[in-house]
Amino acid sequence: MPKKTIEDIQVKHKRVLLRVDFNVPLNVTTGVIGDDSRIRASIPTIRYLVDHEAKVILCSHLGRPGGKAIENLRMTSVAQRLSRLTGLPVSTVSDCIGREVERKVGMLKEGEILVLENLRFHSEEEANDAGFARELASLADIYVNDAFGTAHRAHASTVGVAKYLPAVAGFLMKRELDVMGKLLDDPERPSACLIGGAKVGDKIELLQNMLGKVDMLLVGGGMAATFLKTQGYEVGHSLIEDDKVGLAKELLHEAKEWKVPFLLPIDAVVTEEIKAGASTRVVATTGIPSASHIVDIGPQSVELFCSEMAKCRTIIWNGPMGIYEIPEFARGTRSIASFLATLNATTVIGGGSSAEVVQEMGLTDKMTHVSTGGGASLRFLEGVALPGVEVLLDKE
Ligand code: ADP
Ligand code: MG
Repeated sequence: MPKKTIEDIQVKHKRVLLRVDFNVPLNVTTGVIGDDSRIRASIPTIRYLVDHEAKVILCSHLGRPGGKAIENLRMTSVAQRLSRLTGLPVSTVSDCIGREVERKVGMLKEGEILVLENLRFHSEEEANDAGFARELASLADIYVNDAFGTAHRAHASTVGVAKYLPAVAGFLMKRELDVMGKLLDDPERPSACLIGGAKVGDKIELLQNMLGKVDMLLVGGGMAATFLKTQGYEVGHSLIEDDKVGLAKELLHEAKEWKVPFLLPIDAVVTEEIKAGASTRVVATTGIPSASHIVDIGPQSVELFCSEMAKCRTIIWNGPMGIYEIPEFARGTRSIASFLATLNATTVIGGGSSAEVVQEMGLTDKMTHVSTGGGASLRFLEGVALPGVEVLLDKE
């Protein structure tokens, strides 16, 4: 069921509590913000509220302060960046609940923006404490959630507040739900899902759910080793999850029964040492040397995966093909990203690491959608209901 959005509710003259994801990468010593795309992503909703004469109260968490005030995790620099990006005045307050906050909210005029202090300075936030949620809610008339990236967590500001206020989605939340909802319910076909990352254990539910939704599955990354092992291949010192070999076998069997092609790497980049500057070799996956680790997919696998994905109208990518943090092992992941950017198909990137690579390569605009929520997009694609979405009002 689609959710109500800020366009379905009267916001004029109302105090709107807007949960955003301002959890930007921050140098904790200097307080300097790295990539500010999360702030940018929230601007359309903020601008809509300002233009429609709402009193805008923003709230977010930032980093992991662990329930106490940490000077370098204050929202001040984020608020300044928001002000610079929008050209609008943005004020801050030294807490997110209490007298001083009530006073500042009381002084807010239509179209003005106030950023509350880091929600996670209070341990009640992550505990989804009812009293804390009620206090937050008491600041506003309407609750808007635009923080897709935390929608998989049931916290006071993502779930608790919705009990006390009419709750709707912001534009970013709506876009995430629309794009990913379509992937699951009605993708343009044929469709493919490319999965990588470290462990099978992290992606079992994703693989299982996708198996019933797409026309082709492709697996790379560390988890490919476990699948290769079930095929009887030697994988040397590669990361193997012995307790997942059975599940991996079952998945391959299921894919066969459902006649969904399930592609594994045919060659791999291997090394004897996982470190920058290590010497590497490309070998067929049928002949992985016993003293080596698989650290990336090889060039023939890249070619195979790309030629198969080129046949598809929809491609979902979650998880890197290798240990991309080390340049020597990043080629497979980067080649896949470059290739997807050239396609004239629906390309959706979910997963923190894969999104990071696409972002860092400057390819975000070349994809149909790069999800802003790593964990949240993974849960969503697993077919799991997100608590922060569940509590939003249904569209009639
Ligand atoms: P995402 O965040 O995109 O969902 P994951 O969190 O599942 O991806 O996995 C990312 C991690 O997987 C990266 O840190 C990367 O180094 C690791 N990884 C990828 N390939 C391998 C491999 N062959 N061996 C070990 N780790 C790997
Ligand atoms: Mg990750």
